[in-house]
Amino acid sequence: MRDKYQVVIIGSGPSAIFAALTLMRNGVKDIAIFEKGKDIQERKRGRGMELLCGWGGAGAFSDGKLTLSPLVGGFLSEFVPQAELMDLLKKADDLYISFGAPKEVQGQCSDQTEILYQEAKQAGLEFIPMEIRHLGTENCAPLLKKIRETLRGNVDIFFETPVKEILVEEGKVKGVLSRNKSRVETRYVICGPGRVGAEWIKNEVERLGIPSVPSPVDIGLRVEAPASILLKLTQIAYEAKFIYYSKTFDDRVRTFCMNPFGEVVTETIEDIITVNGHSYAKSKTENTNFAILVSSTFTEPFRDPIGYGKYIARLANLLGNGVIIQRLGDLLDGRRSTPDRINRCITQPTLPSATPGDLSFVLPYRHLKSIIEMLEALDRITPGIFSRHTLLYGVEVKFYTNRLKLSPSLETKIKNLFLVGDGAGITRGLMQASISGMIAANEILKRMD
Ligand SMILES: Cc1cc2nc3c(=O)[nH]c(=O)nc-3n(C[C@H](O)[C@H](O)[C@H](O)COP(=O)(O)OP(=O)(O)OC[C@H]3O[C@@H](n4cnc5c(N)ncnc54)[C@H](O)[C@@H]3O)c2cc1C
Repeated sequence: MRDKYQVVIIGSGPSAIFAALTLMRNGVKDIAIFEKGKDIQERKRGRGMELLCGWGGAGAFSDGKLTLSPLVGGFLSEFVPQAELMDLLKKADDLYISFGAPKEVQGQCSDQTEILYQEAKQAGLEFIPMEIRHLGTENCAPLLKKIRETLRGNVDIFFETPVKEILVEEGKVKGVLSRNKSRVETRYVICGPGRVGAEWIKNEVERLGIPSVPSPVDIGLRVEAPASILLKLTQIAYEAKFIYYSKTFDDRVRTFCMNPFGEVVTETIEDIITVNGHSYAKSKTENTNFAILVSSTFTEPFRDPIGYGKYIARLANLLGNGVIIQRLGDLLDGRRSTPDRINRCITQPTLPSATPGDLSFVLPYRHLKSIIEMLEALDRITPGIFSRHTLLYGVEVKFYTNRLKLSPSLETKIKNLFLVGDGAGITRGLMQASISGMIAANEILKRMD
C-alpha cells in the first residue's frame, strides 16, 4: 500500500464504485478504495456482514432493481436540480447497461397504471408509478465483476481493510487511517460506508463536528401471499409502491421492495437478524412478498432512531431465535402461530427457517395497528391480501444514518470530504447511491481542472 493517493474512496458499494468509475473514465488514476469486506468472488450470500460488506456492498446480493424515477430511493432531488438529476440518472443507467444490465424496462406507464392510480386513491392509498430495470439477484455478481475488471490496473483496491478514522487538519481532509492504523494521505475523500457502516460514520461525523439531523426509522413486517393475489399489481407496476397514512395514528406507512414470485430472506446486521426479500430473474417461487414499513421520526430529547430500531429487532430475535412468522389470521385472533398452523396455511413460507410465533409481543401497538390498517386498504385494490392465510415476517427494519448537512455536491463542512450513498442518509437504493457517487466525483473533477 502506498502512503499517498490523489483520491481515497471508503467502501465499495454502488456509491463508491460509481465514483471510482466516473473518476477513472475522466482520466484520474491515482485512486485507492478501502473496503472492509471481501472481493466479489470470495463473497458468499450467507448471513451477517458477508451479505452487506465487500465489493458491490449491499447491492451484491440485492434484487438488483434499478428504480428509474428520481423521486424514489433517496433524497437527491433536494440537492440537484431535476433536469441535472435526470441527466445523471440516464448516465448511471447507461453505465449499468454497458456492464450487462438488461435493456428491457418494467412498469412502463399504461392506461392500467392510470386506473390503478385512481383505484388506489379511492382506497385511501397513494400509488407511485415508476419504471424499473431489473437485474435479478443472479446477475448482480457478474455485473459487479465486470466493473471490477474495468477498474483493475487503474485503481488500487484494498479488501478487508476498514478505514478507522478520517484525518482532518484545519478544516480540510488530509487522509485516512486504515486497519493497523496505517496512515494514507490524500487530497480528496469520498466516503460511502452504506447502512452497514452507519454506526461508524455516526461516530466519525460527531467527532468531526459535521452537523446532522436524525433520520426517521422505518419498522415493519414482510408480507407474503400467493403471487396470484398480487398479480394485478405486479403486472401493472412490477414494483408497486403505495403510501398510506394510518387511520389511528396518521403515521406514514408504505410498501417497500415488492418481489413478484420471490423469496423472503434473512439479513444480519451486527448481531441482529432481520427480514428482507428478493427475487431471481429466472427461477420463481409461488409467492410474492413485500414489506410494509411504518416511519417514525423522534423529537427531543431522543436522538437515537437506529438504537430504537435495533431494540425492536432484538426483541424478535429474543423471542423467535431469529425471524418470527405469523399468519395474519392468528395475529387478528390474538394467538401465536404454531408449526402446525403454518403447515395448514394455504400460503407456504419461502423462509421455512422463520419461527412461528406472535408478532404482537414484538411490535409496538402503533406499528401493528398501522400495518393492519394498510393491509385492509390494500385489500380494496388487491382483494385477498387481507386474508388469514397471509404470512407476516418480523421484523423488517430500515435504519438510515442521520442525514448529514451536505452541499449540493455532497461535500461536508470539511473541505474535500464528500459523503455519499446510504451511509450519508441521503439515498436508499442502488440507483440514487450510484448517482451520489457520480455527483461527488464530478465535483472533484472540476476542482482538479
Ligand atoms: C438484501 C437487499 C436487497 C436490496 N435490493 C435492492 C433493490 O432491489 N434495489 C435497490 O435500489 N436497492 C436495493 N437494496 C439497497 C441497496 O443495496 C443499497 O441502497 C445500496 O447498496 C447502497 O449503496 P452504498 O454504496 O451507499 O452502500 P453499500 O452498498 O451498503 O456499501 C457500503 C460498503 O462500505 C463498506 N464499509 C463500511 N464501512 C467501512 C469502513 N469504515 N471502511 C471500509 N469500508 C467500509 C461496507 O463493507 C460496504 O461494502 C437492497 C439491499 C439489501 C440488503
